[in-house]
Amino acid sequence: MTKYVFVTGGVVSGLGKGITASSLALLLKSRGYKVFMQKFDPYINVDPGTMNPREHGEVFVTYDGCETDLDLGHYERYIDEELNYTSNITSGKIYKSVIEKERRGEYLGATVQMVPHITNEIKKKVYEAGISSNADIVITEIGGTVGDIESQSFIEALRQIQYELGSTNTFFVHCTLIPFIYGSNELKTKPTQNSVKDLRNMGIRPDALVCRCPFNTSESIKEKISLFCSLPVSNIIDSVDVKNVYEIPINYYNQKIDEIILKQFGLDIRNANLKYWKDLIKTVDNLKDEIEISLVGKYVELHDAYLSVTEALKHAGYKYNTKININYVDSEQLEKEDDLNKIFKNTKGILVPGGFGSRGIEGKIKAINYARTNNIPFLGICLGMQLAAIEFSRNVCGLKDATSTEFIVDTKTPIIDLMADQKEIVNMGGTLRLGNYECKIKKDTLAYNAYKQEKILERHRHRYEFNNKYKNLLEKNGMVFSGINEKSNLVEIIELPNLKHFIACQFHPEFKSRPTRPHPLFDSFIKASTNK
Ligand code: GLN
Repeated sequence: MTKYVFVTGGVVSGLGKGITASSLALLLKSRGYKVFMQKFDPYINVDPGTMNPREHGEVFVTYDGCETDLDLGHYERYIDEELNYTSNITSGKIYKSVIEKERRGEYLGATVQMVPHITNEIKKKVYEAGISSNADIVITEIGGTVGDIESQSFIEALRQIQYELGSTNTFFVHCTLIPFIYGSNELKTKPTQNSVKDLRNMGIRPDALVCRCPFNTSESIKEKISLFCSLPVSNIIDSVDVKNVYEIPINYYNQKIDEIILKQFGLDIRNANLKYWKDLIKTVDNLKDEIEISLVGKYVELHDAYLSVTEALKHAGYKYNTKININYVDSEQLEKEDDLNKIFKNTKGILVPGGFGSRGIEGKIKAINYARTNNIPFLGICLGMQLAAIEFSRNVCGLKDATSTEFIVDTKTPIIDLMADQKEIVNMGGTLRLGNYECKIKKDTLAYNAYKQEKILERHRHRYEFNNKYKNLLEKNGMVFSGINEKSNLVEIIELPNLKHFIACQFHPEFKSRPTRPHPLFDSFIKASTNK
């Protein structure tokens, strides 16, 4: 039977609950258990797909085409397992399915209520993750902080689960804060005590506390928390601020939290295989070289908007013993900038990531033109590929007005156009071309060199595509279409073989990169940028 670990948070947001959940999963997996992860987001949006990346950060996409919270990216990178539609549950999803059931008459005349109908739906989603993944242990992170109005129904559902399954099948980890107060120069436990009280008021008894603190707490601090929160000292775990986030799982391992969980579940404490992770920490701490990569986008003021892209760059950097310093370039600012040499003075590679809408696109096109005409390694992703095709059409093929129908609906030169099956779609949410699609790679190309295989599967998130009517013209001028989705005849990868490294893809390679296994396209981009 699947066991369930729930990770809640209190006091303040931003304590690193997601990293804690991922770290627990990593430790349990390292002991040979099959783990699966899930995140609850209490907002009413059905998924974050329609949210502004500037506010909410990146939208992560699972292989089966779910648009999810960026925490799922952390999960996948830590546990190296592909998650799916059962992994990100929002209040919006829960309400939607309850209301749909009500409309179909499935509640047989009952008055539909928060308890039991909404809570039953939440419980169903928890159990569904366990059943469909066939995991030994499912780790569920509850977004927000305990006490938020929005998360109350989730907490109530978890209370019921704790009662239904009992403590041998459920484990509650509550993340709190132990602040240091200057002046009195003390670590303070009261916020933690109060937060545990809040949780208990809602009927949930935590099994362990993970306390974020600026430095390790003392035995006496733990004893105090232990007394007030009715928990053994061993189950109170310090989560000290670290320079290298990859240290966090090891810090937890040293405090035996995974053993405490397994003991409560009555599962064997098998040996933990953490050598590869410790090697990773060593690598990250001792990078020999460093280079600057420019990331040109319009959401750059919130770095989380490009989280998986910057993570993927770092992963490739680890392989080449190189720290990647990211030069975030605001594409709208770039439109007004005359001296690109100044902006890209120290840049060894230029990356144009995905994006939506017409704002800032001329700045991105300017950056692509700079990369192409100065022979700087270039990687374009999704919108970045579409704009690379537009730049080439305008400046090499003589199509001065080349653009996308996303920017000018009735353009005469739609190099990028709406996909045929998108034309009738009215709803914005969940209707892009999402998730895994196949791509066939042409031999003797940059793409083939990177992947070293002909058939690949990559995750997508777009509505527009390269317009095949212009393929011959671009090909005649030197562009190579090195990746194609054969089923729908869609362009997936383009490249310019006369340059050092110029490649762009319609899909999102960043979602499949892992710290110990960089994605082939990021690998080859960083290899070219570092000259290695
Ligand atoms: N806006 C473009 C499209 O919808 C690109 C999307 C993206 O970059 N994710 O096709």
